Formats: sequence, structure tokens, C-alpha cells
Amino acid sequence: MAELDRLAMYIDGERVAPSSGEYFESFNPFTGKPWALVPRGGAEDVARAVDAAKRAFDEGDWPQLNPTQRGHLLRRLGDLVAREAERLAEIEVRDNGKLIAEMGLQLRYAPQWYHYFGGLADKIEGAVLPIDKPETFTYTLHEPLGVCGMIIPWNSPLLLLAWKLAPALAAGNTVVVKPSEFTSASTLAFADLVAEAGFPRGVFNVVTGYGIEAGEPLVAHEDVARIAFTGGSLSGTRVYEKAAAGLKKVSLELGGKSPNIVFADANMENAVKGAISGIFAATGQTCIAGSRLLVQESIHNEFVDRLVDFARTAKMGDPMSPDTQVGPVTTQPQFEKILSYLDVAREDGAECVLGGARAARPECGAGWFVEPTIYTGVDNRMRIAQEEVFGPVLSVIPFKDDDEAISIANDIVYGLAAGVWTTDIRRALEIPKRIKAGTVWVNTYRAVSYVAPFGGYKRSGLGRESGQQAIRDWMQTKTVWISTATETPNPFIMR
Ligand code: NAD
Repeated sequence: MAELDRLAMYIDGERVAPSSGEYFESFNPFTGKPWALVPRGGAEDVARAVDAAKRAFDEGDWPQLNPTQRGHLLRRLGDLVAREAERLAEIEVRDNGKLIAEMGLQLRYAPQWYHYFGGLADKIEGAVLPIDKPETFTYTLHEPLGVCGMIIPWNSPLLLLAWKLAPALAAGNTVVVKPSEFTSASTLAFADLVAEAGFPRGVFNVVTGYGIEAGEPLVAHEDVARIAFTGGSLSGTRVYEKAAAGLKKVSLELGGKSPNIVFADANMENAVKGAISGIFAATGQTCIAGSRLLVQESIHNEFVDRLVDFARTAKMGDPMSPDTQVGPVTTQPQFEKILSYLDVAREDGAECVLGGARAARPECGAGWFVEPTIYTGVDNRMRIAQEEVFGPVLSVIPFKDDDEAISIANDIVYGLAAGVWTTDIRRALEIPKRIKAGTVWVNTYRAVSYVAPFGGYKRSGLGRESGQQAIRDWMQTKTVWISTATETPNPFIMR
């Protein structure tokens, strides 16, 4: 067997082994075989990384840089990600099983977050306040928070990191990242680009390892001021509880079970493509998956037939091949979880009209593949409609009219995203207002941008990433009062 790549963590500008001396295997989901050894970091490594980040925040070059200079570094980092997009994409495909076609695009787009927030770094202005007191000059300063911890899931490691890292560094913070134990390789490779861009040592650190062993110590560390977490709702709740003990600022981007609603007046061809991209793109492993497809009764049967015909043509296989359309599931536990949900759907009484099993096609080899799966006859109260599967499994739910569509769409604990397919301008404008979700797409799906705030309603999370105001979540406001009075008035009463 080929020797496995031994990866190293990145702390204080250096490649380091874990203090435990232990490593675990990272798997290629297409072959089902290990290809790398990931350092099993723990509390000691987290403490080293946080110390380095704290030193870099308090001393040395980083706090001396002005916002314009930080912006230059971020723009250089964006350029380097663009330069290395192909190499980073290949690492991600091997480690994560994401399609090379999707990764190539994602990594050509990810630099935009560094460019955009680099540009914003010197546009955060304090204010001189029109204060209502004589002989007083009062103004505000927006300052960084300090050391920020970032915990990233496995489904889009470098993109989800960019959403947090770009505004955090633009604001002047320093950072410790804990990538997913399943997909640490790309973040470790990315660390070299941060160094090459010229960020001082200690500003960016990566500790790898498991959620409980490395993630929790990062959340609990007293010198970490803010935690940005993307991942499952259960882990997110635990992170929130731990962070509360230290009164840390927290943002959470959690799960979803998004409704993708097709009205009878929709352009059917576009809506079929929208339904496909909502659930089979990225093998359904996206927080924004449109996993509940709500179809108006009058077009239900025709729509499902067209959808099944289209989904049947999806080309599965090697994610490294540019024409593959559905790749493997990223992790073995996730693969098993998806298969267990196929049993849940059966027990719920849903009717399987496509897939419903592990993919045993020759082009899928020994990889963790699940057939694109569509269930009809789904009632929104069924488990298959209420729980996040995080795989290529679609539940189709019929509805009569606008009110019923809205009621089904909102009858869920999540509120991350939704899709609406209609050619009626009234619906296009009115339906998004009634949906309880952080993002609503009309006649499109899965569009994201550095310009557009992203985050969840209800149990899909707290806070927003991207967009102008995101940088303010990585800062705190200080108010400075200066008295210009020659004499201090009566000290026993409030000024
Ligand atoms: P996960 O919650 O298992 O893990 C996410 C990260 O948290 C990993 O790095 C993990 O090691 C760490 N972690 C786990 N438990 C922890 C703990 N107690 N303390 C600290 N860190 C801990 O999620 P996952 O399986 O990697 O990712 C899939 C989930 O992420 C899905 O539920 C999906 O919806 C969600 N997700 C959300 C978004 C979004 O923006 N809303 C984006 C992508 C994925």
C-alpha cells in the first residue's frame, strides 16, 4: 500500500506535530481508502495556538498595521488562492469527494471574499457623536475583538473558512481554526498561502483533531473572544452552551431542511433544474439543500415524471472527472446515516420513485455512493420531511394553494433557505416575505455571494456571514468621552 501523507498542524508560523504524537487517517471517499494521516490535536495544542494568536494580537507587527495595510494583505491572499485554485481543488476532491467541476468554480470564486473584505478593511468609520452635553467631545472607535476561534464542517471547508476568515482578519483579529476531522488537508495547505501573503506569524493558526478533543478546548479557552461555528445543530447547541460559560460572542451556521416550492405557473423546465440543483448538487451535502420539494397539486404528477427523467440521467463516478455530476458521500458515517434514512422513509410510508439504495454502478467502484433518491407521497410530519438527511434524498410534498405552501414551508424547526418557482410577479414578491428563512431564492437556487448576508432563522443559526455588515460582527465599539471644560462640575451628580 502507498505510504500515507503525514500532515502537520500550523501554529505560530510553523509546521508542528500534535503533542499527543497521535494521528488518524483521512479517507478518499471515491476509493474508500485512507490517503493521509491527520494530527490528533488536543487541549495542549489549542493552548499553544491560542497563546500564539494572543501574542500576535497584542505585540509585533499585526497590531501596528493600519486597516489599509491589512486590506493589502487580504487582497494578496485572495490572489494566491486564485493562483493555487487548481491545486487546492485537487486536494479537496481527494479528501472530500467534491466534484472537481464544482471545486474549480468554488475556488475561483472564494478569492472574492478576501478581495471584498480587504477592500472594506479601511471603510469602517467611527463617528463623532452629536452629544447633548456642553463642552464634551464624544466619538466611537470600532476595534477588533482579539483571538477568534473558527470551527468548520467537512462539506465546503475552504469556502466556509473564507466567509469567516476574511472579515475577521480585515477587522484586525487573530485566528485559530479547527477544520473538520474528515477534511483537514485543504486548510493545512491554505496555511502556506497565508504565510506567503505576508501575514505575521501567529495571526493564523490551524489545530486539527476531533470536535470534542480539539474543538471544545478552543470554545472553552479563556483567551478566545469569539467563536464562529458552522456544522450540525446538535454540535452547534453544545458549542453555544460551552461558549456561554465564558460569555463569548458566538455565530452559528447550522443545519437546514429547506423548502423548494414549485407553483403551477412556474417555467417547468427551469423548475426541474432548480429542484435538481437543490438536492443533487454536491450530493445533497449542503446546508441549503432544497430537500423538501413542495409541488402544487395541479402539476404534481407531470413535474415528478420530468424530475425523475432528468435525475435518472445524472452521471455518477470519479469526482476528479470533469463530467461527473453526482460524486460520493464525503464520510463513511454520513454514508451510513443516509442509508439509514432510506429505511426511515420506507417506515414512514413514503413512495420511492427513484433510487433508494446504495449505488452499485461499476463507475462508483468501492466509493461511498448513494443513488439519487426521490420520494413522493411524503407528508410534512414524516421524519424524512422533518430531519436533515444531508444527502441526495428528496421528499416531494404536494400543496393546494399559497397558504398551504407557506404553512408547510414554515412547519419545520429550521429556517436556513427556501426556493420559489413562479412566473407570477405577485408571488415572486409576496411569498418570500412569508417564508421564515434567512435566504429565499426566486427562480434560482444555491446562489451565494460575498455581497449577500447569509445565515439562519430559527434553529438554523445565529448571526450572518458575508455582506457589508458582517465585518462589524468581528469588532466591538468603544465610546470615548473627552471633556473640554476647564472645571469639573459637582462630582456628586451624573454628568
Ligand atoms: P459537525 O457538527 O459534526 O462538525 C462541524 C465541526 O464542528 C467539525 O469541525 C467538528 O469537529 C466540530 N465539532 C463537533 N462537535 C463539537 C463540539 N462539541 N465542540 C466543538 N467543535 C465540535 O457537522 P459536520 O457533520 O461536519 O457538517 C455537517 C453539518 O453542517 C450539517 O448539519 C450542515 O447542515 C451543517 N452546515 C451548515 C452550514 C451553514 O452555513 N448553515 C454550512 C455547511 C454545513
